[in-house]
Amino acid sequence: MKIKKIHIIGGGLAGLTAALHLLKSGFKVTVFEKNSYPKHKVCGEYISNEVLPYLKSLDVDPMRWGAVIIKKLQCSSINGNILEAELPLGGFGLSRYIFDLELYKAVLAEGGEILQEQVENIVFNGKSFKIETFSNKEFEAEIVMGAYGKRANLDVSLSRKFIRHKSPWMAVKSHYSGDFQADLVGLHNFKGGYCGISRVENNAINVCYLARLDSFQQYKDLDRYRKEVLRQNKYLDAFFEQAEPIFEKPLTISQISFDSKERVVNRVLMCGDSASLIHPLCGNGMAMAIVGARILSECVIFHLKHGTTRDQLEASYSREWAKQFRSRLEWGRGLQKVLTNPTAANIGIATMQHTPWLFQQLIKKTHGKPSAA
Ligand SMILES: Cc1cc2nc3c(=O)[nH]c(=O)nc-3n(C[C@H](O)[C@H](O)[C@H](O)COP(=O)(O)OP(=O)(O)OC[C@H]3O[C@@H](n4cnc5c(N)ncnc54)[C@H](O)[C@@H]3O)c2cc1C
Repeated sequence: MKIKKIHIIGGGLAGLTAALHLLKSGFKVTVFEKNSYPKHKVCGEYISNEVLPYLKSLDVDPMRWGAVIIKKLQCSSINGNILEAELPLGGFGLSRYIFDLELYKAVLAEGGEILQEQVENIVFNGKSFKIETFSNKEFEAEIVMGAYGKRANLDVSLSRKFIRHKSPWMAVKSHYSGDFQADLVGLHNFKGGYCGISRVENNAINVCYLARLDSFQQYKDLDRYRKEVLRQNKYLDAFFEQAEPIFEKPLTISQISFDSKERVVNRVLMCGDSASLIHPLCGNGMAMAIVGARILSECVIFHLKHGTTRDQLEASYSREWAKQFRSRLEWGRGLQKVLTNPTAANIGIATMQHTPWLFQQLIKKTHGKPSAA
């Protein structure tokens, strides 16, 4: 088999996992990442155990890096209704600061190349790709994976549909010290959004919330918003009363799009958030990035080993992706509508207090089944 160049744009969870998978299968890989490691990212940092068998097959063990085991979910509405249930699969808490850094080290140890470059443009000439970076360098490759996250300059240069629409969502994340049950992930509703709380390594507590921009814009100040909006939920109030921020200031992002996206654009194979972002309340985006990397790597390996056409590669990837993710994305959209509507959230949580099996079924609908490579 002639050695082909595989280039991956974006060195987050999707890009690094795909790189590791391909390297372990004997392929040469170059990852382009615009930032240096380590770096904090806006994320709830709760990861479903769905990914553990696959990570193990890549010799990745998050417990070695201090991941915290999480078994229960607690969900509250603004008026104080609360629901607690065992998570069917469970999960773990690990900061992106550590997770991405350790995967980066694993890719380097496996012989992968990681270039600190921001890709400006990707052009397909009918046979191969030309990758242009902001530092005026050019690279050529036969296979290109887009794993550059939720929203990037490349979405504009690739003329993707979702980038034309403004998104009403913003998110804020910070680490805290204080009291919070280690095996629990909290999901607390407030007017305009919801807030996730869970432990990560080193006794830190990650607090990450998603809010509608129009609800935040009336306050324009994170401290005031936390005090006057988030703390109206008594569980969030009790948490913030005793917790101390570890970060100097919170990280914020906006324009978070949950629109559906194309899996293949100009022959670039999209993976992770570049292929679609599930609503964060499902706590499944990272698992989707990791499982998506597995599916894409397997399709690329089959294509290279069996000499299938590019059309066949793209069709098999799109089919496998939809089989694995379409349904959980739809359930995520439905649940987001309920949880961001205070009346619906109150009624929903009150109802499920009496039907915990229903709550567990809903969690299952937004998650996949564990599987190895
Ligand atoms: C508020 C919020 C809370 C969340 N909470 C959770 C949770 O608790 N659990 C969960 O499972 N999921 C959660 N998610 C989802 C999760 O964060 C994402 O699904 C996950 O980060 C996707 O990984 P990725 O590799 O696709 O993207 P990323 O991790 O964003 O990686 C993309 C990488 O590409 C790089 N990049 C971008 N453009 C370029 C370029 N032009 N050239 C080179 N590099 C580039 C970026 O620097 C970045 O490192 C949450 C999301 C949000 C918004």
